[in-house]
This record gives sequence, structure tokens and C-alpha cells, in this order.
Amino acid sequence: MSLRILYRGHLSDCNYTCAYCPFSMTRNTPAQQAEDARDLARFVAWVQTHASAVRPIEILITPYGEALARKWYREAVRELSHTAHVRRIAVQTNLSCPVQWLADCNLQTTALWLTYHPEQIAAEKFLAKCHALSAMSIRYSVGVVGTREHFPAIAAMRAALPESVYLWVNAYKDQPDYYRPGEIAWLTGIDPRFPDNLPDYPSLGQPCRAGHEVISVDGTGNVYRCHFIKARLGNLFEDDLDALLKPRLCSNAVCNCHIGYVHMNGLKLHEVYGEGLLERIPAVVPEFRIEPLPSSLKA
Ligand code: SF4
Ligand code: SF4
Repeated sequence: MSLRILYRGHLSDCNYTCAYCPFSMTRNTPAQQAEDARDLARFVAWVQTHASAVRPIEILITPYGEALARKWYREAVRELSHTAHVRRIAVQTNLSCPVQWLADCNLQTTALWLTYHPEQIAAEKFLAKCHALSAMSIRYSVGVVGTREHFPAIAAMRAALPESVYLWVNAYKDQPDYYRPGEIAWLTGIDPRFPDNLPDYPSLGQPCRAGHEVISVDGTGNVYRCHFIKARLGNLFEDDLDALLKPRLCSNAVCNCHIGYVHMNGLKLHEVYGEGLLERIPAVVPEFRIEPLPSSLKA
């Protein structure tokens, strides 16, 4: 069985200006960038010596900000993709970077979790890069935050992407009861798995693979069961990993983020996503339907 690692290094800057995001147009200092690059290289070296036939490794880079704008992340992805017993190296990205460097990656192991920000990039430019990824046979999903003002862009992106590409929609949860009648059904037509993302799952005491089959690792090598429970289990570079991994029950009241709840045993989402779990591509990409925009948009 693979060990899945969610890696979040020191990086905390981004080239986009999403209004709701704390990393919008932030810039790490040269010293911070050097620390991030050095520690990422240490993580890559650890994976290269610890991935094995007995314990293959799958990695999802989940940065605070945009990792692929930095050449050390692109180089790490390329290296890890060719590392024996690394079954997956996936990255969350806004796809602002050039894509040609991916041609040097191992297509069998590389995957991208793309987030489309309609207010930050022209649809044509984003789509051209998606088509370039498809031409290179890079696996990718595309996602959008399901705010009302995004609905027309979501429909247009869904219509323009190849049918085989999964487009997910994240529920907007900052405002309770945000969605008006008809909107959830409309979004579910676009992304049949949208209802999975709507709830805050009560998770206290529930069995979850986090901390056993999945871990979160930061730039210093600190190991946590997931990104959401900040009780440190140990350190990747100092401790015996086997001693850190064991089945655990969740200690948080709720789990409401895809990269967390997807590992809750009871939701059976590992079966839904299969080998595409980290890059958020269901084993069978669901059929979608694009209905006329909800009338609530005019309300
Ligand atoms: S692209 Fe992502 S990390 Fe960058 S500002 Fe937008 S939400 Fe934040
Ligand atoms: S249910 Fe969510 S918060 Fe709880 S351990 Fe699993 S991933 Fe972490």
C-alpha cells in the first residue's frame, strides 16, 4: 500500500491577487525562498531513499501560494516523477507557469490539480494551457470555486474542456446557506460530485486514514496526520516513520476540505477516486450536463 504525503513547504507567495486569499501578491524574501528550496531538496532526497516496493509513495504538493512559479518546485516534480517507487507526484497550481517543462516529466506519475481563477486569467489562455497538457498526456483536473459570479465562467469552461477532463466545483462556504434554490442542482449538473463538497462532515471520533496511510509534512519535516490537526506526530528526517503511523480517530469536530474528508473511511471516496485520488480525478469521470444558468442569478 502506498504512503500518501501532502507536502506544504515554507513557500507562502503567489503571483495572483484573489481577493479572499492571504497569499495574494505576497512575496517571500530571497532568504525565505532559499530556505524553501533547500528544504524541498531535502524532502526530495528523503523520498528518493525511502520509496520502496514495500512502501511506494504518492505525493501531493499543496502549497500556500503558487509553487510552480518557482523553478525548484518544477525541478522537484521532474525528479520525483522519475524516482523509482514514486507512484504519483501531483501539484495544486493556478497554471500560471509555462507548461513545456512538463514534457521532461514521467507521464505515468505526474499529475496536476488545476484551479481556474476566472478573474485572474483569460479563459482562452487557461484553456490553451489545458490543451497543451492534454497534448502531452499529462493527467489533470480543473476546479473552480462555486461563487455566484463564477457561474457563467464555470459553464463556459466546462463546455470548452475535453469531456474526458474532470471539472470539479468547490462549494463556497464562507457565507452560511449561500446557495439559492436551484443553484445546487445546477452546479451538480456541471460537477456531479459537487454534493460531496457541500457539507461540513462531523468527524470527531470518526476513523480516518490520515496519520496512517496519509500524512502531512511541512518544510521542516514535521509530520502531522493532516493539514488540519496541528498536533505534531514527529519528524520525517529524525524519527522512525513506522513508529509514527497508526490508525487514528479524528480529533476535530468537522472536516470540510476535500484534501481532508476524502480520507475519512466512512465516505468511501478512496473507491471513487482510485488512482486519481491525489489529483482529484474520479476513477470514472462522471457525465455532466450544462443547463441554462440558474434564474437566481438575475434575482
Ligand atoms: S491563486 Fe491560489 S494561492 Fe494564489 S492568490 Fe489565488 S487563491 Fe491564493
Ligand atoms: S477527518 Fe479530516 S480533520 Fe480529521 S483526521 Fe481526517 S483529514 Fe484530518
